[in-house]
Amino acid sequence: MCGIIGKTGINNVVPELINGLKSLEYRGYDSSGIAVINNGKIGRFRASGKISELEKELEKYRPESEIGIGHTRWATHGSPTKENAHPHVSPNGKFALVHNGIIENAEEIKKTLLPPDREYSSKTDTEVAVHLLEKYYDGDPVKAIVSACKEIKGSYAFGILCEDFPNTLFAVASASPLVAVKGEKESYIASDLCAVREKADLVYRLTEGEICSIEHNEIKFFDSEGKEIEKSADKISVDAQDLDKGEYEHFMIKEIMQQPQAVRNTIESLVSKGKIILPEVSITKGFFKNEISEIVIVACGSAYHTGLVGKNVIEPLCKVPCNVHIASEFRYSEPLVNENTLAVFISQSGETADTLAALRLAKKCGAQVLSVVNVEGSAIAEESDNVIYTKAGREIAVATTKAYSAQLIALYALGIFIAKQRGKITSEQERNFVEEMKRLPQKIGETLELVNEDVKKLAKEIFQSPDIFYIGRLSDYATASEGSLKMKEITYINSQVYAAGELKHGTISLINEGTPVVAIASQCGIFSKTLSNMAEVSARGAKVIAVTDEELRGDVTDADEIITVKNTLKEFKSSLLVLPLQLLSYYTAKLRGCNIDKPKNLAKSVTVE
Ligand code: GLU
Repeated sequence: MCGIIGKTGINNVVPELINGLKSLEYRGYDSSGIAVINNGKIGRFRASGKISELEKELEKYRPESEIGIGHTRWATHGSPTKENAHPHVSPNGKFALVHNGIIENAEEIKKTLLPPDREYSSKTDTEVAVHLLEKYYDGDPVKAIVSACKEIKGSYAFGILCEDFPNTLFAVASASPLVAVKGEKESYIASDLCAVREKADLVYRLTEGEICSIEHNEIKFFDSEGKEIEKSADKISVDAQDLDKGEYEHFMIKEIMQQPQAVRNTIESLVSKGKIILPEVSITKGFFKNEISEIVIVACGSAYHTGLVGKNVIEPLCKVPCNVHIASEFRYSEPLVNENTLAVFISQSGETADTLAALRLAKKCGAQVLSVVNVEGSAIAEESDNVIYTKAGREIAVATTKAYSAQLIALYALGIFIAKQRGKITSEQERNFVEEMKRLPQKIGETLELVNEDVKKLAKEIFQSPDIFYIGRLSDYATASEGSLKMKEITYINSQVYAAGELKHGTISLINEGTPVVAIASQCGIFSKTLSNMAEVSARGAKVIAVTDEELRGDVTDADEIITVKNTLKEFKSSLLVLPLQLLSYYTAKLRGCNIDKPKNLAKSVTVE
């Protein structure tokens, strides 16, 4: 899940490699490094920690070159030290290589394919790849790449330099994202388009072990057997606004405040004339009406939480069993999905490795596959027969906010669409849903304004607490799960979430005098039940923070603080309730002096399993 950048051009590439790495830093920031070819020799510069550390290193040597590769690491094998930082160099110094992914059989390769007395300069899985290139090299780098990749199991995108070809950059990718773009006088590779999107109009995406060799004005593509192939390119669209923090101190708060727009754009793409339209979904009405027996939603992290909200909306509306699975579990289970299953996969980046693998499994089982993704042309979008695009725009902060809110809209729309196709709601009910959905962007904006100061104050009261608990029932539990994850991600406070009724079955022993418990209580039918759970923790000294809406606020008891959001239909309440929870983690993290946009140990798009 690291970031890879490579450039070959006619000017010094080092400043652009560094800029590219900075825009990729969200993918990992354990260490970074670059390699260049200078006077026919590979030079390598690395540092542990942030890219600013690498810059200090480069200040000392000031390398210049017209070709180079760079890497920002999210360590999977080997600690985040300088020795383990990429690029890795072959023993004879001829090859330098950067890697995104995991070589699962690295130890086996060392035992069976490389000399027993071979010494390794790092503890990474990656280093064997560059040793294999040296082993198989007979003057043709593409042939060496083909032979090396045949031995490698796992996922990889490699950027490669070879001293004998000082003007050519090589790359190969299988199950890890890699793009190539060709400009007039310079060409690039990158693990994410964001690093190179302003450089050209067209982008090539490498898949299935495809290889490319790149000179400043020419790119050649080869299949995984090394046979030259023609490859088609996609058009690049640039949304420059998203790349800038503007007036905000952090991308996270900017993205929180962009939620009305993200939600509006998503809604506009999914409704027309009072109806839900899903333009990229071609599943027949017959399937929804007569064949569908189950809906499974599969995702990771926050997207999994949108799935939990989705279940609570879709199942009661559509009267179809709906189950939510964690992708990394689903992919290794023996799921009972078949041609009567609708399998829904949610991923902001569309590149989440576990979700992609789960999707492939569901497809193999014959399920109807539908994805909710934010990035057009991403691997998950490409492999799905049906897609709902969220229109959140580019999200930079590692902790998701606006993409989360856009995913909720996609799932509401899906639920209403299926319910209508199945005859479970009338056209008038559909119109009412659509009307209220269209009011959501404004209500999101109003809620953000309404709760902002209260939440800021609250953050001051809780930011030193070692623990925090979140509770709720049904969709409030789903919202609480997201609130708790946001708190963990960016404040590093030990934050736990429980279904409100479950607390007394063990966890209540952890409640002490003053422990903050955030209770989401918005569901009319079970409101009094959640109030009882609040009373239980309050009686044990907890500081209870109720999050509810204007309609129910007056009935809240046993709360030390009440945060109130605007009213909406019960199906859409999560969209408003999550807002104070996002803000609470943001302001708490700020008071704790945390690195909000790049929390430790995390990366934005998780392209390794
Ligand atoms: N597995 C490699 C390492 O740990 C690459 C990790 C990554 O994709 O960032 O160095």
